[in-house]
Amino acid sequence: MFHVKPQAKRGSERGLEGVWRGSKGGLGGVWGGKRGSAKLPPASFTLRGPHPIVSTVTSPATPLPDALPLPALHASHGGHWLRSPDGATQAVSKGDAIMAAADTPVLLLNAPLVASRLGYPDLSGLDLLEAFAFVHPARFCVPTPRGLAEALGLPVPENDAAVPDMLQRAAGALIAVCRAPDWPEREGAWSALQSLERLRWPWAQVLKAHIAKPERAERWLFARLPEWEEAGERPAPRQVELSAEAVQAQLARLTGEGAESREGQRAYAQDVARIFAPRSAPGRPHLALAQAGTGIGKTLGYLAPASLWSALSGGTVWVSTFTKNLQRQLRTESRRAWPAKRADGTPPVVVRKGRENYLCLLNLEDALQGGFAGRPAILAQLVARWGAYTRDGDMVGGDLPGWLGTLFRKRGIAALTDQRGECIYAGCPHYRKCFIERAARDSAQADLVIANHALVMVNAARARDPNQRPTRLIFDEGHHVFDAADSTFAATLSGQETIELRRWIIGPEKESRGRRRGLAARLADVASYDDAGAEAITAACKAGQLLPSDGWLQRMSENSPFGPIEALLAAVRTATYARDESGGQEAGYAIETEAAGLPGEVIEAAGAACEALASIRVPLIRLGGRLEAILAEPPDWLDAQGRARIEGARFALAWRIDLIAAWESLLDRLGGPADPEFVDWLAVDRSDAREFDVAIHRRWLDPMKPFARVVLEPAHGVLLTSATLTDRTQDDNRWASAVARSGAAHVEVAPLLSAAESPFDYAGRAEVLIITDIAKGDLPALAGAYARIIEASEGGVLGLFTAIRRLRAVHGRIADRLARGGLPVYAQHVDPIDTGTLVDIFRDDPRASLIGTDALRDGVDVPGHSLRCVVMEQVPWPRPDILHKARRLAGGGSAYDDRIIRARLAQAFGRLIRSKDDSGHFIVLSPAFPSRLLSAFPKGTPVLRVTLDQALQRVRAGVVEANRDGASEPAGDAFQP
Ligand code: SF4
Repeated sequence: MFHVKPQAKRGSERGLEGVWRGSKGGLGGVWGGKRGSAKLPPASFTLRGPHPIVSTVTSPATPLPDALPLPALHASHGGHWLRSPDGATQAVSKGDAIMAAADTPVLLLNAPLVASRLGYPDLSGLDLLEAFAFVHPARFCVPTPRGLAEALGLPVPENDAAVPDMLQRAAGALIAVCRAPDWPEREGAWSALQSLERLRWPWAQVLKAHIAKPERAERWLFARLPEWEEAGERPAPRQVELSAEAVQAQLARLTGEGAESREGQRAYAQDVARIFAPRSAPGRPHLALAQAGTGIGKTLGYLAPASLWSALSGGTVWVSTFTKNLQRQLRTESRRAWPAKRADGTPPVVVRKGRENYLCLLNLEDALQGGFAGRPAILAQLVARWGAYTRDGDMVGGDLPGWLGTLFRKRGIAALTDQRGECIYAGCPHYRKCFIERAARDSAQADLVIANHALVMVNAARARDPNQRPTRLIFDEGHHVFDAADSTFAATLSGQETIELRRWIIGPEKESRGRRRGLAARLADVASYDDAGAEAITAACKAGQLLPSDGWLQRMSENSPFGPIEALLAAVRTATYARDESGGQEAGYAIETEAAGLPGEVIEAAGAACEALASIRVPLIRLGGRLEAILAEPPDWLDAQGRARIEGARFALAWRIDLIAAWESLLDRLGGPADPEFVDWLAVDRSDAREFDVAIHRRWLDPMKPFARVVLEPAHGVLLTSATLTDRTQDDNRWASAVARSGAAHVEVAPLLSAAESPFDYAGRAEVLIITDIAKGDLPALAGAYARIIEASEGGVLGLFTAIRRLRAVHGRIADRLARGGLPVYAQHVDPIDTGTLVDIFRDDPRASLIGTDALRDGVDVPGHSLRCVVMEQVPWPRPDILHKARRLAGGGSAYDDRIIRARLAQAFGRLIRSKDDSGHFIVLSPAFPSRLLSAFPKGTPVLRVTLDQALQRVRAGVVEANRDGASEPAGDAFQP
C-alpha cells in the first residue's frame, strides 16, 4: 500500500502561499463557475523556496511526494480532465481544456500529443517530459502517465481521471530529486538552468528555487567529457580452427549452468562455427545461410563461436542487424561473453552506427552559442545536459529518449548530428572528445562490433581505413540484406542531393546557417601553401555554381530553372507529369515514369548536365591529387592534427568524386539503349500533393552483385541468418531465393545451408483466422471490425495496414470510442511520436493497441501479454512500381510476388509468438486470401476461414482456452498449410 499524504493545502507552510493567491477557485469557467469570469493563475509565477517536498519514492513503503500545486491537464481520446492547484479533478469539455491551457501554465505530459488530442496546435505548458529530461538526462521513461509514474516510483493511475493528480505528484517528485543531496545528475544542472531561464523555459521558474547554486563553478560539458586515446593498429587475426568440443563448451558457458540444453541451438552453433575456419582462396569467403526458427536461441548460438574465435584469434567479429531493437538485445546478451570493460578500461563490445546518429559537439556548441533560437535553443540545452551523461553520444536509438525530439517539433535533433559529412575532423576543437571519433577508435579495437546492414555496407565500400573493413560478418535479420544492399548501391540524382553537393563545395548561401563552410574555408591553409591546390578549389567553387541553389523547387513549379542541373530537373518533372499513369497524381502520392523513350528535351538537358558535372568533378580530382602530394611530402607546418584533417578532406573528396561519376554514368545512358543490369526511372517525390524532390533513380536489378564484390569477396567468413530466411513454399525449393539473395552466385561459392526449426507449439498456441464477411473497400466495416477485435481481445492488438490513408481513416473512426472504454489505440502516422517510442508505449500497457504500416511488420519485439493479436487489413501485395515490375519480370512473374507476400506474412506472424508462453490470433480481414499463400504460416498452425462474429468468439476465449475446451474445431472451412 502506498501511504498517500493529504492533498497539498498547506501552501503557506511550503512557501507557496501567494503563488495561487487569487487563483483559488479562480478557474471559474473550467471548475464550474461562469466561463469568462475565470480568474486564472498568472502566466508568470514564482515559487519561493525552500519547500520541504518529500523525496521521490522508490518503494511502496515510502510516502508519496507532495503534489506540486499547479493546474494539471490530461487529454486522451476518451476525454479531458483538469485538476485545480488545490486538488479537485473534473472532466471538462475540449473547449474548456483549451481555454485553461491557453490562459495558464498547466502541467501536462507530452504537449504535442495533448495538442493533437485537443486539436489546438499552439499548446504549450509545463511538460513533465521536458522536466524529466532535465532532471534525469540519459534515463529511460515511457512517455505515458503509466510510464512516467513507473519511472518515478509513483503509483500508476488507474484511469484517465487519476492522471492529473499523478502529474502534480510527478512534478513534486522531480523537484524532490533536485533538492536531494545525492541527485546523481546534479553536476551542470544549475548552470544549464541559468541558460534555460534566459530562454524562458517555463520549468526554469519552477525549478530554480530548488536547485542550489554550487559552491564551485561547474565544469562545462566540453570540459567534462573524456578524451579518447589513440591506440596502435590491431594485429591481423591469427588463423585458428574451432573444435566442436570448444564451441559446445563455450555455448554451455554462455547459456549458463542449469540452462535447458537445446539440440537445435547446439547444431546451429556448430554450423555457424564453420564460417570462422581459415579461408582457402582469396575472394571466396566461407558463406553460411542459417534459417533459425524463433526460440532456438539464435543470438547465443552465434555469439558462442564468435566470442571463441575472437578470443583465440585476436580478431574482430561484426554482427549486423536491421532493427535497433535487436542491437539493444545484442548489447545485453553479449555481456555473457564479454565484460563491460577490459582491464585497460577499453570496451570489448561496441555499438557502431552511421555518423548521422551521433551528437556532433561542434554543432551543439554552435546551437548553444546562438545558432538556435526559441524552442530549438531549449532543446539544445537539454541535449547538452544529456551529452554530459550519455553512454556513447548516440542520439537515435541510444540513451537519448526517442520522444525528446518530437516535443520540439522541428528537426532539431538532426541538426545536432553530422548529417551531411561536413565534419572538419582534426580541425574541430572537440575532435579529441568527439563521440563519432571515439566510436570509430573503439570499434577498431573491439572483439565484437554491433552495427546495422547499411553501415556495414557503406563501411565496406568506403571505409577511411581499409584495415578496418570487417572480415568476419554475421548478418542477423538476414532477410533484410537484399533491401539494404538495394539502397546502399543505388544512385539518385535529385534536387536535394545536388543542392547538398553545392553546399559542401561552396558553403551555405545564407550566413545564418551555423558553421557550415565550403571547401575554400575548410582548406584555407592548403590554398595558401599550394598554388595548384588553390586553383583547383577556385575552379571547383566556380563550377559548383552550376548546381541547384536555394529556391530551386519554386523555380521548378514556375518553369524558370537556373543552370544546367535545374534545367534537367525541370525537364524530368515535365516528362514525369506528362507520362505518369499510376493514378498517384490525383491521390497526391509520388509519381514516376520509366527512363526509356524519353523526349528530346530530357536527353538534351541530360547532356548539358553531364558536362556541368564533369566540370565539377575534374577540379575535385586535381584537388585530391594535391592533398595526396602534401601528405606525401609534408610541409613543416603540418602537425598531426593538420595531417588528420587533410586525410579527412581527401576521404570526403573521394566520396564526392565517386558520387558525381555515378551521376554522370546515369545521365550518359539516358538516351541510349537500356542496360539490363540496371533499372532507371524518373520521379517526382510528393507527400500529400506537396512536391519535395525531383529525381532520376538508378537501382541494380540484382543489388547482390555489388554486395558480393564489396562485402563478400574481401571477407573471410559471412553468415546470413534469420527466422524468415527461407521461402515457405509448398515445393521443395525453399532455399532457392535465400541463396539467390545472398550474393553467393556472384562469388561462385556454394553456401552452407543450415536450418533449425522453432521449438514453439504453434498448433496449440496460435490460430490464423481469415475473415470472410468484410468486403474489400468497405471502410466502415473495416473500422468496425478493428474496433470489435480490440474490444474482444481487451487491447494487445497490433494492426498492420498497407496504406497510410486507410490507417488514418480507421483510427479516426475508432480511437475515441475505444479510449473511453479504457482501450487506447496508438497510431503510426497519426500520433506525433516516433515509432520506437510507440512500440515502448505498446509494450508497457497491456490494454493498449498499436496500428501502423511496414515498419511495424518486423520491427516489433513484444513478448508476453502485451501483444496477443495481430490483425492485417489485407493481403500485403507488393506495390507495382517500376522497380518492382522490372524485378518481377526477371524473377518469375507471379511466383516472385507470391514469395514477397509469403515473406511479409511470415514476418508479420512472427510478431505474435515471441516466447514459448505466448499465444494469440493472427487475423486477416480479407476474404480474398489465396490458399496458395497459407504455407507462409508455421507448419501445424490452424488456419480457419470464419465470419467476424465467429472470430470474435475465438478471440474472447483465447487460443489456449479454446483448444482446451474443444472449441478449437474449425468454425469454418479449415486449411492446413
Ligand atoms: S570532429 Fe567532426 S563530428 Fe566530431 S564534433 Fe567535431 S565536427 Fe563534429
